[in-house]
Amino acid sequence: MSRPCSVSQCPETAAGFGALCNRHKAIRRRHGHPEQTGVTVQELAPYRQRVRLRMEKNQGNQAWSILAQRWGVVIDAAKAQEAEALRGRAFMSHEREAGQELVKLAREVPVETLTETVLALFLMQEEQPRRFKSDAAFDAQLARRARALTDTNAGTYWDDKAKRTKRVYRDVAPRTLAVIAEHIKAAFGVAGLYVARLEQRENE
Ligand SMILES: [Zn+2]
Repeated sequence: MSRPCSVSQCPETAAGFGALCNRHKAIRRRHGHPEQTGVTVQELAPYRQRVRLRMEKNQGNQAWSILAQRWGVVIDAAKAQEAEALRGRAFMSHEREAGQELVKLAREVPVETLTETVLALFLMQEEQPRRFKSDAAFDAQLARRARALTDTNAGTYWDDKAKRTKRVYRDVAPRTLAVIAEHIKAAFGVAGLYVARLEQRENE
């Protein structure tokens, strides 16, 4: 017996024993919710711009060095975990993969760039809460935009229709994305909310 996909207006039938069709299942895996669309670089750009201005205006503020320190703590823990894994200690595979991703992020991306991107997403969530279909969907966008800052996660291919090179990212498991987001929020979350509130107050 086939049931319709539980996403409203979707004409497909649910796959297997689940509630979603194959397409919506794939979207949920990638974006944290079956109806979430990916936040694009272009969409995030104006928010990044505002965060950058705020960072420039408050250069002397020790908040930024505290953020960098907190990020350093997260990365040290991820490195220690990987060292233990290499010595044979067992970890959940998504925990280990998330740790490796975080170390790669810290190696390839300046902390200022990461701060700008992460705080921009917090600002976007504050101002456009409906852009994110759930907390898991927000977390997935946070982890995806952070991973996209690295070069090694991207492969390129020639899009003949668009006549330009496009980047594709190697996807990681949904649970890995969730762990990456959790660690990023542990380092930047408080500052993210703070900046969002400051912007809100100035807009009022
Ligand atoms: Zn569907």
